[in-house]
Amino acid sequence: MPRIKDEDIQLVRERARIDEVVESYVTLKSAGGGARKGLCPFHDEKSPSFNVRPAQGFYHCFGCGAGGDSIKFLMEIEGLPFAEAVERLATKFGIQLRYEEDGRPSGPRRDPRQRQRLLEAHAAAGEFYAAQLGSAAEAQVARQFIKDRGFDQSAAEHFTLGYAPKDRQSLTGHLKNKGFTDEELVVGGLARRTNSGTFDVFQGRLLWPIKEMTGEIIGFGARKLYDDDFMAGKYVNTSETPLYKKTQVLYGIDLARRQISGASQAVVVEGYTDVMACHQAGVTTAIATCGTAFGEGHARILRRLMLDHDAFRGEVVFTFDGDEAGQRAAVKSFEGDEEFVGQTYVAVEPRGMDPCDLRMADGDAAVRELIASRIPLYRFVLDNTLKQYDLDRGDQRVDAVRDAVQLASAIRDASKVDAFLREVAGRIGVEVEQVRAEHQKNKGKPAAPSRSSAPQDAPAGEAAPVATGPSFGAPQFADEREALKALAQYPHLAHEFAVDLDEDDFTHPVSREIFTALKGHGWPEKPDPTWIPRVSELLPEALRPVLSRAAVEPLLAQESTTVQVVSSSIFRLQVLTVGRLVSDLKSRLQRTNPIDEADAYNRMFGELIALEQQHRELREKAVGGVVPR
Ligand SMILES: [Zn+2]
Repeated sequence: MPRIKDEDIQLVRERARIDEVVESYVTLKSAGGGARKGLCPFHDEKSPSFNVRPAQGFYHCFGCGAGGDSIKFLMEIEGLPFAEAVERLATKFGIQLRYEEDGRPSGPRRDPRQRQRLLEAHAAAGEFYAAQLGSAAEAQVARQFIKDRGFDQSAAEHFTLGYAPKDRQSLTGHLKNKGFTDEELVVGGLARRTNSGTFDVFQGRLLWPIKEMTGEIIGFGARKLYDDDFMAGKYVNTSETPLYKKTQVLYGIDLARRQISGASQAVVVEGYTDVMACHQAGVTTAIATCGTAFGEGHARILRRLMLDHDAFRGEVVFTFDGDEAGQRAAVKSFEGDEEFVGQTYVAVEPRGMDPCDLRMADGDAAVRELIASRIPLYRFVLDNTLKQYDLDRGDQRVDAVRDAVQLASAIRDASKVDAFLREVAGRIGVEVEQVRAEHQKNKGKPAAPSRSSAPQDAPAGEAAPVATGPSFGAPQFADEREALKALAQYPHLAHEFAVDLDEDDFTHPVSREIFTALKGHGWPEKPDPTWIPRVSELLPEALRPVLSRAAVEPLLAQESTTVQVVSSSIFRLQVLTVGRLVSDLKSRLQRTNPIDEADAYNRMFGELIALEQQHRELREKAVGGVVPR
């Protein structure tokens, strides 16, 4: 089985900057000192504990302990085997990989370049379909459809729309000519295999390419144009493939991601033409799910994009058409993540028009106004809740109050709760006291869906790895943790001071083993983003999170220059070591008779004086560290 050459793997580590790789998935903000942070993609969190250190080529999450280099990140986030992650990074960063045989018999394995091939097939398909839409005579009906929806040619090009010819093998034939196999087209969801051959999945339809954030096509949404279409659905999307996972794709995210991130707003619409209409009208934060309800996977993508400083402060605006399905979706969203819900808004067009219809009827400004007229989701749900009751009847009002106060639990801003209760009282027509009393009663119930005041993310210190004996996170190991951080983050500066450091300076088995690995690998001469990843590979799996944490956690030291910080943390560790030697020696001296064992006593006494001298010197150096000349 061919293996990627080690030196090429190193080259990938060097070129594939960890922050660039991570930023395709997570919005990162500066965390000071060259570090950057964002919301962890590997666990649910509301405040960012996912740290990225470009200089060290490493990431680490203080919440869940995930950590590693750019290759590890891609493996984890995409669920890829090592070789495929390396290959994808190599493709992205323009590195030509070389392979070598490792002598072992080759077994059946999935082609690691499959994903790349499927992306290439989709790119070629996208070009083919776009060209058909642009010039094929039979595509006139598709061009007319676009025009009838209020879009000109430049809009169609901006969204790279396409047309799938009615001919059952037009795409299949085109791609096979380009060297793609039947198998690749079938696996990629572009073709179907039947008893009589391989045929295009989409025939005689208008197509919207569905893209990843990076702009790569991973599937298509297709609209019916002809009555004799063999597919029943008005809209049909690519089925689940190795590229396309419908619970994790948002149509338009490639065009909207920067605006969503910058404006901290996302507008969720229902259809492809609605996304187009919004963008054309200037609402460039619009996206849509593809043939599935908005779910947790989609919320996660948006949350990551809208991270603002330390908290998620963005708003998500849903445009519902006000019909029953839209209302159901709203209530469903309401039952989801509370924090998300607290920032969820609804924009409902009074006549029930979707953004595409609205733009055709009233123009671009009307679309912008619709979005600006958003109301908090809780108010929308309140309206729908109250509609179920006959408020002219006393018993129904009691029930309405009970139902309505439940919604107060989703209001993010506590100062707005009372205003909401007043609103409920006014809407139902009861005394506000009655509503407040019901709210209090409701708050007392443990089962009520009220906000938890407990911290959502475990404090960083609790994510320390488990070891037998005292945890490495215990207070007595603070200096060892600091020294490890200094060595991991500034090995090129540390090695000068670490010459005298040895295993015994570390008293915890975890730090000792990591230090041994660092030292054994040899200190780098200059900053090297591949160094930590290489050392990490030498460590047992259980110790890797400790190293990745050390590589990203800010040093606690107060000294003014990095060299001082690094040297003082190393000297502090040595102060401890020499301190231990001093007390051992004193204890032995106490147990030695200065007259009967005069020679030994004098020798030890001399050693003690020297050690104490060394101890004093180290203590001085440890305060403030070495000032660089
Ligand atoms: Zn995490």
